[in-house]
Amino acid sequence: MDLGLEGKNAVVCAASSGLGEACAKALAREGANVVVNARGEERLEKVAEAIRAECPDVRVETVVGSVTDDGVRRALVEALEQVDILVNNAGGPPPGDFRDWDREAWLAAIDQNMLSAIELIRMTIDGMAERGFGRIVNITSSAVRVPIPVIGLSNATRAGLTNFVFGLVPEFAGRNVTINNLLPGPFDTGRLRGSKEITRHLTRNNAAGRVGNPDELGAMCAFLCSRHTGYLTGQNILMDGGMYPGNF
Ligand code: NAD
Repeated sequence: MDLGLEGKNAVVCAASSGLGEACAKALAREGANVVVNARGEERLEKVAEAIRAECPDVRVETVVGSVTDDGVRRALVEALEQVDILVNNAGGPPPGDFRDWDREAWLAAIDQNMLSAIELIRMTIDGMAERGFGRIVNITSSAVRVPIPVIGLSNATRAGLTNFVFGLVPEFAGRNVTINNLLPGPFDTGRLRGSKEITRHLTRNNAAGRVGNPDELGAMCAFLCSRHTGYLTGQNILMDGGMYPGNF
């Protein structure tokens, strides 16, 4: 299937490892130019080099810094002449006990996992609509469907983002700009390996008997960004290997 991504310009946030890296690679393999971002330069450059080596025909730009930084967001949007595809992603908030989270902890999580995505959408969506093509994918979490007790900061901020973007969907659906959320269950990344608590909660009902490979999520992201999905918008796509025990 030709996804029609050749020559499209994609911004992929938080892409120096894990799910973001997999999304950037999947888009580049389909011919999209990619702007990749992360806070650490060395690792980001390695990912960019790997993409350039594998996909010599696409442009690969890097923007170092946090998505919470306004200047970084501006650099992301300006790295290529236009943004056709936006993949919002960031590190997950720390796990913990809600009794320990003060106002600063809440604001940091809201900033990283909700407001930065909304701001990048604000900066790009009207241009997408004017040109008649836009794909926005927010990487959130299965915790939007089934909140995970130890990551309350994630449960709350991602739910906020999810409900906010759903409110935008009707305004843009008729102009071929879609907004969808990808909800990972357990995937084999640094996030999962870094926290035994999160892993335990995420793999309790592990129907598939394995965790996901980031490339599986990358492929779904590329499909969601393709020319075939203009009629698919406002969806929360759960990728959890059958872990969620409900129909809806
Ligand atoms: P990861 O640790 O492998 O990668 C995180 C990436 O984000 C890295 O490239 C890191 O440099 C970058 N990053 C972190 N904070 C950033 C910031 N403020 N600005 C820019 N870049 C930043 O983790 P991952 O598993 O790929 O996680 C990606 C997202 O998916 C996280 O929000 C995580 O909570 C969520 N998630 C992951 C899983 C899973 O099982 N892996 C499950 C549910 C949700």
